Amino acid sequence: MKLTALGTNGWMPTNNQKTSCFLIEHKGYLIILDCGNGISNLYKYEDILKNYKHVHIILTHYHLDHIIGIMYLNNFFKNYNVHIYGPGKPYYSSIADKLSTLTDEDFFYKSALNTGRILTLTEYDLSGFNIGDVEVKVNLQDHSNYSFGITIDDQIHYAVDTSVIEDNFILGKDVKFFLHECCNMEKEKSGHSSLKDILAMKNTYKVDNLYLVHKNPTWSDESLETIKKEIPVLMDGDILE
Ligand SMILES: [Zn+2]
Ligand SMILES: [Zn+2]
Repeated sequence: MKLTALGTNGWMPTNNQKTSCFLIEHKGYLIILDCGNGISNLYKYEDILKNYKHVHIILTHYHLDHIIGIMYLNNFFKNYNVHIYGPGKPYYSSIADKLSTLTDEDFFYKSALNTGRILTLTEYDLSGFNIGDVEVKVNLQDHSNYSFGITIDDQIHYAVDTSVIEDNFILGKDVKFFLHECCNMEKEKSGHSSLKDILAMKNTYKVDNLYLVHKNPTWSDESLETIKKEIPVLMDGDILE
């Protein structure tokens, strides 16, 4: 299991940090968690991409900072089999419906989902799904719209676009890498988390594998350095293995 952070900002790219996207190599599969504009960093990882013919992209929900990178897939995966997994009924109409809105030809010179490569769209619900022999668990979070925590083979738990909820800490405490969003220092904004509440829950569940992602893009370098003294914060380009 190797995880490369491609995009670690919440909602907005800043100078050298892009929005949610993580590249995972696991059991011979190439998996991408969320498809924010961090996916544009893939040009740095051609040495990894050339080893695969399939890519599996898991979307936590359809907010733009998590799916806008769909527009760039063709740059990297023209000759790949692309498999995209996203929430469907009863939470959303369908993955095809949501993504086709984004990829309408009025918004882009050529529909990103209407290309020559093989594309499969798979809807998930709370029963989870499999990518070959990789088990993916799904849990419902607390966000302004439906968003989902993702656990991959009990090795990674990924919880972004959620307030601090116990379910994520129960699922995250025993995995190798637990990635949690952090948007505020003190108070939770509706559907997002605060550092204060994350640290309290980390303490309650005795979690020692926690990394902050989907960080507030308006934090200064000084604030980030202060937070990093309490808990690791992933930056674009960081690698966990
Ligand atoms: Zn987000
Ligand atoms: Zn969101």
